[in-house]
Amino acid sequence: MPESPEVQALADELDWRLSGRALAEVDVVEFRVTKTRARPLETLVGDRVAGITRHGKLIDLEAASGAHLVVSLGRHGWARWAVEGETDAAGTADAADADPAADVAPPPTLAALAFDDGSTLELTDAGDWVSLGAWVVDDPAEVPAIAKLGPDPADPAFARADFDRAFVGRRKQVKAVLQEQESLAGIGNAYSDEILFAARISPVAHASTLAADELDRLYEATVGVIRSAIEARRGIPIAEQKAAKVAAMRVHGRTGEPCPGCGGTIRDFSFASTTAQYCPDCQTGGELLPLKGE
Ligand SMILES: [Zn+2]
Repeated sequence: MPESPEVQALADELDWRLSGRALAEVDVVEFRVTKTRARPLETLVGDRVAGITRHGKLIDLEAASGAHLVVSLGRHGWARWAVEGETDAAGTADAADADPAADVAPPPTLAALAFDDGSTLELTDAGDWVSLGAWVVDDPAEVPAIAKLGPDPADPAFARADFDRAFVGRRKQVKAVLQEQESLAGIGNAYSDEILFAARISPVAHASTLAADELDRLYEATVGVIRSAIEARRGIPIAEQKAAKVAAMRVHGRTGEPCPGCGGTIRDFSFASTTAQYCPDCQTGGELLPLKGE
């Protein structure tokens, strides 16, 4: 799932490549992408891009007319630049067949946006179901996922009071609070694992049970992990963002590998509908958290 550091890099790349360009053509391949049926993406054709920004994990393309194209990447959504000469899925499938190293077929294009400089941005989704969605609105706050967003730890104005409002007294597991977009914007499964590891806090501890020094560490880790990841991901081409994120993870996705902090073994545990990772020695006093199926 793309989280704020990757989505920020995507917004930055789209902003410098597309600002000032006019939208020449829209091809919505998967109709379920369009969330504003009365106002389809095609209504933006001819409009010029004024700028592209991020809200939480969503992308906001503002047009010169004042309209906004908001894209939620969902669980497996992302974007790529169309390669010239490859105009359809058959072309990309051939390319994958020709390259023995390409063991995974590229994700399908759900919508393609062509601009007046000849570039085409494809919105893709690698999941089994369509999780990417797009809205055309006059105000980004018309999109429910944006309207509900809490403060963003990447925002220079984010303060300890914002963090305390999200955590203090909450009878909810800290990992769940970190990922709750109403409480904090932009964090998902991967960075919440990284934040909790950096803070040396159990992911399943309830926020209301954290001591003052634990809250201090969690605040520092939340701001530190997200801001340094945004810095680290800045300027990396969007095609390389996923690999850069995977390579940067210290515990997330590293089940069975040695902990970079203590040398112990990183473990899996079941969380919501997925699995997450932690170091028992650094975070839970050696206690193993439950894993479904065990
Ligand atoms: Zn450890």
